[in-house]
Amino acid sequence: MPMSQSFKDRLFPIAEQLVEHYGSPFHIYDEVGIRETGENLKKLFSGVKGFREYYAVKALPNPEILKLMFDMGFGFDCSSIGELQLSRQVGARGEQIMFTSNNTDQTEFKIAAEEGGCVLNLDDISLIEKVPEFPELICFRYNPGPRRTGNVIIGNPVEAKYGLSHEQVVDAYRLAQQRGAKRFGLHTMVASNELDYSYMVETTRMVLEISELIESELGIKLEFVNIGGGFGIPYEPEQAPLDIDALANEIESLFNAFQKKHQYVPRMYMESGRFMTGPHGCLVTSAINHKDIYRKYIGVDACMSALMRPALYGAYHHIDVIGKEDAPKDQVYDVAGSLCENNDKFATQRKLPKIDEGDILVIHDTGAHGHAMGFQYNAKLRPKELLLRADGSVELIRREETLDDYFATLTFAEDRFAPDQVES
Ligand SMILES: *Cc1c(COP(=O)(O)O)cnc(C)c1O
Repeated sequence: MPMSQSFKDRLFPIAEQLVEHYGSPFHIYDEVGIRETGENLKKLFSGVKGFREYYAVKALPNPEILKLMFDMGFGFDCSSIGELQLSRQVGARGEQIMFTSNNTDQTEFKIAAEEGGCVLNLDDISLIEKVPEFPELICFRYNPGPRRTGNVIIGNPVEAKYGLSHEQVVDAYRLAQQRGAKRFGLHTMVASNELDYSYMVETTRMVLEISELIESELGIKLEFVNIGGGFGIPYEPEQAPLDIDALANEIESLFNAFQKKHQYVPRMYMESGRFMTGPHGCLVTSAINHKDIYRKYIGVDACMSALMRPALYGAYHHIDVIGKEDAPKDQVYDVAGSLCENNDKFATQRKLPKIDEGDILVIHDTGAHGHAMGFQYNAKLRPKELLLRADGSVELIRREETLDDYFATLTFAEDRFAPDQVES
């Protein structure tokens, strides 16, 4: 079931007060749920040597959320300068940060090396000679190509732009060694929102096999393997959740078997985003209009600037109407925002209880890749973010965007340039 009962029990009774106090729309996140998921993950993987989660910052890049992650001992997975800065602002340094960029430029390499550096995860063999000061510890992102089939969001590995190919992997570590690297890791990410745990088990088996290959070819014992993110959550009520217990068990067996065979074992990392925060956030929005044409529409005060997933992936997000949780779902609505794109809909042809103007809608599972994916097309601005604290209080953790923010990039020093005339 999307969104935990416990989050609902604490949020729904106060939703009306929150809308009154803060105005709608807003995303609200659940400290209790995020901590429970994090602590449970640590417990389940406690039998795997050196286990560490690197929270994928892009899922929910808010400092207050990152502080919760850091407090639980997690590191951060970053793929841009802004994400690096956010991670460093909450105190992460060095090996607490993985920098998994792709199509990396020189500025990114420079910033990555500052302030105690981070773990560089190189996306391609051609980048080895482009790293200005080659670090002692280096990681590569591996793309298995036809050896694995991908899934819907991330695509087929053969078509995915990420990582180095199987044929390049040994050469990459050899070249890195020549540039002075002494410590090594291996990374991959081949799925997104995957609910079948056995897929992650296969990914773990795959990175351990590549570790063996690298040791047999080059004598390099990898310090860690990182199986990436991509752990799914059930957005739809009928979907079964990822069996994280079974996943932890089978991964532990794989690492134990590796240890037995080789008398050493790499540490195990993951960099989950969605699984950590996705279900622990929701978008609260008010019904402000309704129209009855060829279909019935409910117009709400949020739009796709607050949540892109339905428009981008046709993603399902469950919706509750406050005070009508148990009312019969005898209406069929499209729930729409105000942006001039017909795919600006949070739900299409959805069975819902009869909605009146002023009703408060809760759109589930926006705690990852929700607010963060928002944009400003059509001058539609992004809403605020709130955090429901463990003590029941609520805190504003990001204000809404204003028109001043929207117009900010129109304030700049005049720069008129007259190019030399080129003979044609
Ligand atoms: C997006 C991303 C993640 C997180 O993905 P989730 O589906 O949120 O778990 C992890 N690692 C990398 C490199 C990513 O690009």
